[in-house]
Amino acid sequence: MIRILGTGMAGFGAAYRLRQEGFEDEITMYDKNSYFGGHTASFETDDGFIFDDGPHISFTDDERLQKLLAENIDHEYETLKATVNNYWRGHWIKHPAQCNLHGLPSDLIVKVIEDFIEAKHKTNGNIKNYKEWLYAKFGKKFAETFPMVYGKKYHTVEAENMDIDWLGPRLYQPELEEVLKGALEPSTPDVHYVDKFRYPTNHGFVHYLEKFKQLADIKLDHKVTSIEAQKRLIHFDNGKTVEYDEVISSIPLPEMITKIIEDVPNDVLEAGEKLACTSCIMVNIGIDNNDFTEAVWSYFYDTDIIFTRLSFPHLMSPNNVPPGCGSIQAEIYFSDKYRPVDRKLEDCVEPVIADLKRCGLIKEEDKILHKSTLFTKYANVIFDLDRQEALKIVHGYLDDIGIRYCGRYGDWGYQWTDQAFKSGEEAAQGMLDLAKY
Ligand SMILES: Cc1cc2nc3c(=O)[nH]c(=O)nc-3n(C[C@H](O)[C@H](O)[C@H](O)COP(=O)(O)OP(=O)(O)OC[C@H]3O[C@@H](n4cnc5c(N)ncnc54)[C@H](O)[C@@H]3O)c2cc1C
Repeated sequence: MIRILGTGMAGFGAAYRLRQEGFEDEITMYDKNSYFGGHTASFETDDGFIFDDGPHISFTDDERLQKLLAENIDHEYETLKATVNNYWRGHWIKHPAQCNLHGLPSDLIVKVIEDFIEAKHKTNGNIKNYKEWLYAKFGKKFAETFPMVYGKKYHTVEAENMDIDWLGPRLYQPELEEVLKGALEPSTPDVHYVDKFRYPTNHGFVHYLEKFKQLADIKLDHKVTSIEAQKRLIHFDNGKTVEYDEVISSIPLPEMITKIIEDVPNDVLEAGEKLACTSCIMVNIGIDNNDFTEAVWSYFYDTDIIFTRLSFPHLMSPNNVPPGCGSIQAEIYFSDKYRPVDRKLEDCVEPVIADLKRCGLIKEEDKILHKSTLFTKYANVIFDLDRQEALKIVHGYLDDIGIRYCGRYGDWGYQWTDQAFKSGEEAAQGMLDLAKY
């Protein structure tokens, strides 16, 4: 029997690959939740709003996956332009800020450009952390005013305690000409790494996964509480126990190592404890106005603004809201290791509304129709300086005891939904590559 733990993109990626090889009754998927989809879940409220479990859009450039996802929703999707902006001390600036400085205080622009030029002329030795990388790529003033402040809000950790192996295309590195033009001109070319994206027309992001449910027998409300690797047994919180020939897990590694797998050696336990992840409180707001922003999401740099990022589900699909209404999802980040959650979810609602008003996104005359909160314990992996070494130990151990891992929280990386799906496929492929299959 093949047991797949988790029904998110990674779990379904594994099931999909196995079904391609003719496996059927041998595959069972398990999830602790009473719903499938993991982080791609969408929640429909009684008053007609749809909020995802964190803002989710599909911007994969993999044509195979684009086709697969489109077929899953009978090609009923919206195609949107990624209009993104930043808020800094009362200024709204296009994203990315480094090439859109126009309108900011002139003293700041001058200093940013001075430092940018100085950084370009410096020879950098071996860059050891994110702070050094930011200084080298953008200069001190820009680094300290924007990405270091945002990074601390989002990742919960200081830039000098972060590695740079997560960057990929995430931070655009402009030429001097682009910085100068963006400082002088109000309109600049789009350079964001996400250009266009898709979103299901109906039922929120999770609708993309609806047809994946046919891939396997799915057991919801099955929280794995322990695994006896030697006996090949999985125990669940509802008292059930199953045997396995193969197990593919997308459960977050810290849960697996410190809570689930029995008899983990001390050095592996210590490594598991070092893996850090942000948690996110999301505040969902619905209002009787849908004309307050053009951006599909916005970044907030000010430390006295409670949220780090906002997204606007009514712009993803008009069916995410009742007619004529708008919606906002605010994200506030914490982490057990660096900034433990220090408040109740409901205590975040009024501060979010107050800051939305301060930024001018909600007007006094707007009627607030919906307020709710969501919480995700595992949001973004923190690429702190402990991660690489600890991860090597944890993955090595899982390999030794024959537990396959996949997905954002099994691979412990910065994966998007398409990458998580492929990671599941690869974990299944690893199993198929063994001679016995
Ligand atoms: C705030 C936020 C915004 C994001 N935005 C985007 C975006 O716009 N576009 C994009 O492509 N990606 C986005 N992502 C990333 C995307 O969510 C992930 O890449 C993807 O959903 C990960 O899938 P997964 O299957 O690896 O993990 P998950 O979806 O977390 O699946 C793991 C599953 O394991 C289950 N599980 C955990 N513990 C147990 C247990 N003990 N027993 C049984 N089951 C268990 C969970 O319930 C879950 O269903 C975002 C992520 C976050 C946090």
